[in-house]
Order: sequence, then C-alpha cells, then structure tokens
Amino acid sequence: MSDELSYIENAAGQFAIPCQIKIAADCAQAGKFCGDKEDARHWAEEECWIFSGEGYLCDHCHQQIMRNITNLQTKKMN
Ligand SMILES: [Zn+2]
Repeated sequence: MSDELSYIENAAGQFAIPCQIKIAADCAQAGKFCGDKEDARHWAEEECWIFSGEGYLCDHCHQQIMRNITNLQTKKMN
C-alpha cells in the first residue's frame, strides 16, 4: 500500500494528520495523535476531515473554503 500522506510525529512516536491548508482562524492544525498512522487517518475520517487527494483539510478550513467560494460568486454577480 502506498502512503503519500504526510504525518506529524510527536516525541512519543505517535502520529497525527496535519491540516493541509490551515486557512481558517480556528483551524485545528492537526488531528489527534494516535499510536499508528492508520489510526490517525481513521480519526481524521471520523472527524469528517476532507481528503483532497494529497492530504486532509480540517472541518474548519473546509467551511472557510466554502465561505470563500460563496464570496467569490457574490462578487461576480455584482
Ligand atoms: Zn485546518
């Protein structure tokens, strides 16, 4: 199984998924540290983080993107 995802590793040797874009003011920055990469990934999926194809976006950043898109569409209409 190929694993292209980037993970954060802490001093205890645990892994967490970082938020890929970190654009929201209340961005989670990273997921929960888990004993292995697989668990870290499951955690992100259970928290409804969005898989972009290259990494995960936390829920806050996903909502921020949605707001940005809405703003863009509003501007175009004016
Ligand atoms: Zn984020």
